[in-house]
Amino acid sequence: IKWTEGRGWHDGQLVPYAPLSIDPANMTLHYAQTIFEGLKAYRQPDGGVATFRPEANARRFQDSARRLAMPELPVETFVEACDLLVRQDKEWVPSEGEASLYLRPFMVATEVGLGVRPANEYLFLVIASPAGAYFSGGVKPVSVWLSEEYVRAAPGGTGAAKTGGNYAASLVAQAQAIEHGCDQVVWLDAIERRWIEEMGGMNLYFVYGDRIVTPELTGSLLPGITRDSLLSIAADLGYQVGEGRISVDDWRRHHEDGTLTEVFACGTAAVITPVGSVKSTRASWPVADGAPGRVTMRLRSALLDIQTGHAPDPHGWMHRLGA
Ligand code: PMP
Repeated sequence: IKWTEGRGWHDGQLVPYAPLSIDPANMTLHYAQTIFEGLKAYRQPDGGVATFRPEANARRFQDSARRLAMPELPVETFVEACDLLVRQDKEWVPSEGEASLYLRPFMVATEVGLGVRPANEYLFLVIASPAGAYFSGGVKPVSVWLSEEYVRAAPGGTGAAKTGGNYAASLVAQAQAIEHGCDQVVWLDAIERRWIEEMGGMNLYFVYGDRIVTPELTGSLLPGITRDSLLSIAADLGYQVGEGRISVDDWRRHHEDGTLTEVFACGTAAVITPVGSVKSTRASWPVADGAPGRVTMRLRSALLDIQTGHAPDPHGWMHRLGA
């Protein structure tokens, strides 16, 4: 779907996957007005297909668009575009378990010019790709590296938007995590370098027995849709769940005094991943005994059961596309 100043959204088309041709002075290539989303379509037990919370992705896409001075796409148009593609690619939605069809809606500027200003032309696209179960040999905890040198986002920045620049800026810190023998980077706040924000591409949850806490949305972390869903699911299951502030020192202290029983990360790709160990320049420590925790796995099954149609959907999250 195209957008031009004065005309708005027009010319929606369903076309075979193919390369785009790009002018060397395309404004996106220089000034990075790009935003994207990620969501999944799951096969349902009756053979039908359903996407998980596409309206929530559509709303976050609008929030990202505003931050990047891009035009907002109506929620219905976003959802319709995803529906159209999923219907077309229905046989690509895997038939079993955690496997899914991953959808990647995105918007880029298409105007040609070298002046730094919001573009007057944009293109919204959705591509799809089948995604297998994230963990093939069973759920495996990740090890995390606390990034003290780099920050992902600062107050007033683009941290709450899903825009390419945030990910470009993350790559060097993620490489550092790997160099230190860890799987994933964990970001701290930009001002005090003390408060836990999120993992590279996932939000974090801290489990204290029956009490569960996730870092509050400060404006510099991504408001994950999985994170939001788990606030409801955990409450449904009787846990005392809420948002709060957790510092690196809290994490270590609560590990040492035994009150922190599990830590996990959550996002569209892996749904829930247990965190097994933590490392920084100053210290390293395990999370519980390094194995997936009971609460982590219970929440993971509860969410996946809703997504795959094996449990009721009390919050009306599944968007059915028919059998
Ligand atoms: N944080 C970041 C930086 C991410 O890229 C993602 C993945 N979209 C998440 C958190 C989790 O968000 P969601 O649950 O919407 O996938």
